[in-house]
Amino acid sequence: MRVLIAGAGPTGLTLAIDLARRNIDVRIVDKATEFFAGSRGDGIQPRTLEVFDDLGVIDAVLAAGMSPATVRVHLDGKFAMERRMAPRREPLPDVPYPNAWMLGQSQTEGILRDRLAEFGVHVELGTAVSGFEQDADGVTVTLSTGEVVRTSYLVGADGGRSFVRKTLGIPFVGTTDESIRMLLGDVAADLDPAYGYWFAKEADPMTGVVLSPLPGIGLFQFGAPLTEDDDSDSLETLQAKLDDVSAGVRLSRLTWSTVWRPNIRLAEHFRAGRVFLAGDAAHVHPPTGGQGLNTGVQDAYNLGWKLADGSPELLDSYETERRAVAAHVLGVSTGLMRKYAERDERAHERGAETQQLDISYRTESGKLVAGDRAPDAPVKDAAGKDVRLFDLFRGPHATTLVFGGGAPEALNTYNVLRPGEDARGVYVVDTEGHAFAAYDASGGVTVHVRPDGYVSSRVVRR
Ligand SMILES: Cc1cc2nc3c(=O)[nH]c(=O)nc-3n(C[C@H](O)[C@H](O)[C@H](O)COP(=O)(O)OP(=O)(O)OC[C@H]3O[C@@H](n4cnc5c(N)ncnc54)[C@H](O)[C@@H]3O)c2cc1C
Repeated sequence: MRVLIAGAGPTGLTLAIDLARRNIDVRIVDKATEFFAGSRGDGIQPRTLEVFDDLGVIDAVLAAGMSPATVRVHLDGKFAMERRMAPRREPLPDVPYPNAWMLGQSQTEGILRDRLAEFGVHVELGTAVSGFEQDADGVTVTLSTGEVVRTSYLVGADGGRSFVRKTLGIPFVGTTDESIRMLLGDVAADLDPAYGYWFAKEADPMTGVVLSPLPGIGLFQFGAPLTEDDDSDSLETLQAKLDDVSAGVRLSRLTWSTVWRPNIRLAEHFRAGRVFLAGDAAHVHPPTGGQGLNTGVQDAYNLGWKLADGSPELLDSYETERRAVAAHVLGVSTGLMRKYAERDERAHERGAETQQLDISYRTESGKLVAGDRAPDAPVKDAAGKDVRLFDLFRGPHATTLVFGGGAPEALNTYNVLRPGEDARGVYVVDTEGHAFAAYDASGGVTVHVRPDGYVSSRVVRR
């Protein structure tokens, strides 16, 4: 089986890694002639960190990034207070990465490309998908280089203006609001990079300039609203916006800038036959809440194992599961954007809704049912060594947890035992009781966990 991915942003790269580690023959092409160099999606949400853990890039992402910085609020040029978007949470037995993590998108993409290269797969730059036709057995794709490729599946991870989506004629339903525009850029500032900054006027404290430190590159991500007749994204414009609300902070070294317009859209379908849409090609978000990159990564992670499996039910479930999530996430980020537009004083606050940990594909109700995220828990292996359930899940396989003993010996099947219980097969011991609690397993249950870390079925044994 072969998969061709159009677009090497975070979505395409995540999918390529997930397929390559399953030994699927994957090619990833990108229209751009060089790699994107801006910070764009710089907030990585907890659920994405869990995906990065599974894909083997978590250490590099944690080493390169930083915790979200405390924001120093200045009104009329004077320091007014410190503020955090969200309280810093301690790791929990079931949630090892409870906080968002900051890293410029281009650096995240670099880490994903390095991981992909470990499987011998490299992004083919300067290579656009320029046409395709599908039949019952595959897709014939024409590339801008003139090459014609025959592939089992084509995935359009080619961004908001997706050529793949347009060629399929799939409507991209939503709005582009020209009345709100944001000036964004990566720029150096003579400020302490241990903090983020909010500069505004006391008379209008919710309209201002934000500067968020970008780890490792000595720059800040700049953001400011633009007036209707203002269309420039030059360093002078950034400086003028800042001078209007602060005194004496100098900007320099503008390496990337853009004028962002709220384009909020959801594709009517995420699939047409053997062609799939993922990431911004399927949904575009306001940057409020930092959801776009994260939702694209989750799309890819949902799709990878299903493509590898190839069964019709699983392939069908991609659109069902991910389109509902994308619609929900669009609601969250749009709601946050409205709060800013309405100058709501709580617009800066972020709660659990942006972390993507509560995303569920459940179709039934109850405590931990099929479709829910399979929680982590600390346990001990047969040698008494500390391991986590996430260690058992890591990799391209599905996992079965049999609580309370009696598991037949099968690959990736583990007995989860309480201390002192009789061991059979491959087992781990829940010395602190966290696994039994997280899986609500006191009566004994068998839980099947999908390769993407969601419960696929849960059987209660009486
Ligand atoms: C200012 C800003 C701030 C943001 N902040 C956040 C944030 O904090 N958190 C967050 O999660 N998200 C954020 N986002 C959103 C995030 O940047 C996007 O959601 C993310 O880039 C989507 O990734 P993707 O891989 O789906 O698409 P893209 O990153 O757009 O990648 C698509 C790729 O496809 C290529 N391509 C296009 N056409 C073709 C073709 N025909 N053939 C082959 N290749 C093609 C393009 O060259 C591109 O490399 C922000 C966005 C902006 C603009």
